[in-house]
Amino acid sequence: MPQIKKLLIANRGEIALRIHRACHEMGIKTVAVHSTADADAMHVRLADEAICIGPPPAGESYLNIPNIISAAEISGADAIHPGYGFLSENAQFAEIVEAHGIRFVGPKPEHIRTMGDKIEAKRTAGALGLPLVPGSDGAISDIAEAKAIAERAGYPVIIKAASGGGGRGMKVVHDPAELETQMLQAGSEAKAAFGDATVYLEKYLGNPRHIEFQVFGDGNGNAIHLGERDCSLQRRHQKVLEEALSPVITPEDRERMGAIVAKAMADMGYRGAGTIEFLWEDGEFYFIEMNTRLQVEHPVTEMITGMDLVREQIRVAEGHSLSVTQDEIEFRGHAIECRINAEDPKTFAPSPGKITAFHAPGGMHVRVDSGIYAGYKIPPYYDSMIAKLIVFGRTREGCIRRLRRALEEFVIEGVKTTIPLHQALLDEPDFQSGNYTIKWLEEWLAKQDA
Ligand code: ADP
Repeated sequence: MPQIKKLLIANRGEIALRIHRACHEMGIKTVAVHSTADADAMHVRLADEAICIGPPPAGESYLNIPNIISAAEISGADAIHPGYGFLSENAQFAEIVEAHGIRFVGPKPEHIRTMGDKIEAKRTAGALGLPLVPGSDGAISDIAEAKAIAERAGYPVIIKAASGGGGRGMKVVHDPAELETQMLQAGSEAKAAFGDATVYLEKYLGNPRHIEFQVFGDGNGNAIHLGERDCSLQRRHQKVLEEALSPVITPEDRERMGAIVAKAMADMGYRGAGTIEFLWEDGEFYFIEMNTRLQVEHPVTEMITGMDLVREQIRVAEGHSLSVTQDEIEFRGHAIECRINAEDPKTFAPSPGKITAFHAPGGMHVRVDSGIYAGYKIPPYYDSMIAKLIVFGRTREGCIRRLRRALEEFVIEGVKTTIPLHQALLDEPDFQSGNYTIKWLEEWLAKQDA
């Protein structure tokens, strides 16, 4: 297949910049698309060309498939990178892109489809030999059957929407007497939110960590893993801070699980970047889902492996084989990412508005991925994440010290941000010792309020 010459970035914000940077380093021209609310955005300014694709609401712009395809055709783009969120896990979009003779920088549409349905994903993962959370074999609607499965798995259980995502569409049930009402409610909520009432049931793990493996496939049966990320610091099932490698996973477990996930991807014929998410409790891994795209937290993996994951995605889309073999991948040092949101650091209420002053930290091993600048007005229509601060250290302790220094340097004025939250977290002994689970942050936040 010929080299990609011009790539359309179907996204906005920091990830659009991230993709633009990889493209320019590879000699690929970029086309930005944007809503009318983003006319002044940095991704629009930096790209070689920019095309407005609609009004502010994402449904009419960043999710507007006909307009994005038209933008690609008008600009003569020969590839589209969807970033994360928006259309990145929309199998139909990937199919439409390919039907127009444009390269989709992402997995094969059928794999996006399979993994986008959480029930199909679980079934596929089980067939590929990944360990699963005990629960229903698939969709569940019959209450008597649900009760029997919940008994077997043991309470508490979690009801999940097959089409759920972004930490939404989940209900924890502690008491068998509540199972029926909760299931009915979960079904109607899922229908309203995702247009699909299908739910399934699994054991609710009491106090796990969230451990995810980065994988890469060439689409021809070769695949590698790039180690794990620990994303246990979460609020409302949303990640707040991520690190690589995990402070609790042993080299033996990494090698063992890494080999299992890489083989699963090879057997699937998976193409491009993917993330296999597990809950980890008492030394056991339980598959929860696979994301068939680049993740927000991918830079921590880049820091410890020295690999440019977007470049690798583009190379695979061009039909190249993977640029490294498993044996060539070495994990070096430690990396942590802080997601900085324009939110009140205590109430988490969104804080859009004009940035009056901006100074990004720098220095050795400090990376800031962000699309904001002094004078920029954060529009209220989109995600509140405005920057990612990623820091590397030879050791985890050194990484935390550097991160503290970098956060001190960070100036964002005019809007509230979650920088003070990150600063407070770094001072916590539990964080410093790596002793935290997915419950830890919410419990800590509750204590701060008390
Ligand atoms: P989403 O697609 O919405 O991100 P996931 O299935 O990845 O949903 O789950 C998101 C988060 O919800 C997990 O990181 C974890 O915190 C929690 N969670 C999901 N399944 C379970 C479970 N079986 N037991 C305990 N917590 C769970």
